[in-house]
Amino acid sequence: MVAIQHLRRFRFVFALAALAGVLVLAAVVTKGGSSQAAAPTPETSVIILSGDGMGAQQRTAIQYAQYGLDKRQPMDALPYAGLLDTIPAGPVAVTDSAAGATAWAIGKKTINGYTGLGPDLKRVPTLIDIANAQGKSTALVNDHDITNATLAAFGGPVENRDWKIAIAKKMIHNNKVDVLMGGTEKYWYPKGEEGMIPDKIPGEDVGEGKENLVEQAQGQGYQYAYDRDTVSGLTGPQALAIVQDSAKRRWVEEKGYKYKKDPHYVPVKDLVTKALEILGQNPNGFFMAIESDDLDSAGHEHDLKNVLQSGRTVNQVVNAIQEYRKVNPNVLLIVTADHETGGMTIEDAKGETNTNSDGDDPIPYWSNKARNNAGPNGEVPKRSGPVKIKGTNRRFKADWTTPEHTGGMVPVTAVGPLAEKMTGVHQNTHVFDVANEALTAGP
Ligand SMILES: [Zn+2]
Repeated sequence: MVAIQHLRRFRFVFALAALAGVLVLAAVVTKGGSSQAAAPTPETSVIILSGDGMGAQQRTAIQYAQYGLDKRQPMDALPYAGLLDTIPAGPVAVTDSAAGATAWAIGKKTINGYTGLGPDLKRVPTLIDIANAQGKSTALVNDHDITNATLAAFGGPVENRDWKIAIAKKMIHNNKVDVLMGGTEKYWYPKGEEGMIPDKIPGEDVGEGKENLVEQAQGQGYQYAYDRDTVSGLTGPQALAIVQDSAKRRWVEEKGYKYKKDPHYVPVKDLVTKALEILGQNPNGFFMAIESDDLDSAGHEHDLKNVLQSGRTVNQVVNAIQEYRKVNPNVLLIVTADHETGGMTIEDAKGETNTNSDGDDPIPYWSNKARNNAGPNGEVPKRSGPVKIKGTNRRFKADWTTPEHTGGMVPVTAVGPLAEKMTGVHQNTHVFDVANEALTAGP
């Protein structure tokens, strides 16, 4: 181990000397959007941003609807791009979010349902542990449930992704995630307690636990926030923000609800900006994983409009991170997905009928009839389009083949130290390899 590290340092010094001239050139060329990224240092930070279920078709639809044909959307304007296989370990062909994110978190393919553990269920370091060991700060941010499978892969290793309360406890006690932000209070409060966010739909988010994990977190030194004011007052270094869950989806689902008027709604980009402000205080750097889980729900429910809504969130988060990178460029940002959801396809709005495939929530709780299924003659459901391609008179719609995830490759884009390593076609475990290399770079 030591020998390897010495060798690495030795090689690094030589590489540095040899590349000194080239790097100066690269720094200039990179402004034009190409060439090699900077080398990592011991202070390098890493951010993994997942649009859950965001396959190539979803990315394209978000591009067309919001940016049109000329200007690249922020997540695709990053200078390096590649593709990732997503297949998990075990007998199945298609991954869930737990196995998909675990491949990034520990560099091993695992069984669907396991978070942060390999197929043998042995505890190995996740990127959170690795960052902690390097003296870096850590954060997990979601537009939905903080304890959701994707983030649990990093901060709550368990053999069943549904053990939400165990995951929450691990995040604050065992794995010491410094900053936790997202939705779903019920896993943090004891049975029957409403928490700080009013439950507009009776019983929707009432405490399910045995203990008050918010109080426990505060006892551990976490500051606690639950609305825009308290989030903006967070200073760290440890913070727990549990805000309105999936507020933008709720906007569609709950009659009369307006997320902008809800004081408990905090835009994900604002959560990320606050997290960066806290994490940025650590001179050793940080690791952060961010997820838009609403994007996956939209795919399961065959809801193109919510795919686009969540895609907007992903692009806003990329913009917030790029703002931060202007002053702090020593941050590797990787934007990808754990899998595609829904078998979504972009079709021309004219003439094509829709496949008669049901979403997995044909009658959502907020309605009394199926909303997102094709009609008997292939009529296009309202929330699948048509959608205008920005700046043109052309229109597209979405068609769907399954209420589940699909097994195709997903795009990955990146910027920052080692970002060039994300080019090409790789297994999803490659995200771990590159992130790990960036987090453990020697002096
Ligand atoms: Zn899913």
